[in-house]
Amino acid sequence: MFLDELPEFNRRTLEVLRQPLEDGTVTISRALNSTTFPANFMLIAALNPCPCGYRGDPRRSCHCTPPQVERYMSKISGPLVDRIDIHIEVPSVPFKELSGGLPGTSSAEMRVQVTTARQRQAARLAGSSTRYNADMSHRQTRQFCCLDDESQNLLKAAMMEMGLSARAHDKILRVARTIADLDQSDSIRPNHLNEAINYRMLDRNLWT
Ligand SMILES: [Zn+2]
Repeated sequence: MFLDELPEFNRRTLEVLRQPLEDGTVTISRALNSTTFPANFMLIAALNPCPCGYRGDPRRSCHCTPPQVERYMSKISGPLVDRIDIHIEVPSVPFKELSGGLPGTSSAEMRVQVTTARQRQAARLAGSSTRYNADMSHRQTRQFCCLDDESQNLLKAAMMEMGLSARAHDKILRVARTIADLDQSDSIRPNHLNEAINYRMLDRNLWT
């Protein structure tokens, strides 16, 4: 499911996404009974950095006031952001780069990388009902996402600096495990962990 302009949605509607994002189910309650339905889905959402969209853009100036930016971002609650695995900033691309430049990874190459990473996960998780890193339980995350001392310190520093939740802590480990799998590395190395920490953009209170 792709939600463009995320802050334009009603905040209460967005909050309803918390249960399916967490459990892959949705419970509909009516007067007499409640029923739980399967709702396993992938959420992709996009939002501007401020109401005008030019905040942080080196080529255009943003005239939004801090209270306007705060009001805009406050439509998305912390608990919802916490349940999203990866947050990244996508700066606008200058025309020069759009019209030429080096080609990136092709879809065919990417497919091979993803297939290989998924096979590594399947082999590691064989014998359990979990298929992918993203679905690992807390116990599996502890078991399969061991960190060396350097990475341990990196994560500790990020937790303190960004005030991360226990949920975000486990998400970082699972994403780091996937980055290591894409790199065909058996262990999570500091560069894998660092990349995963950088994917928690919205935990950094970008708008303050
Ligand atoms: Zn603006």
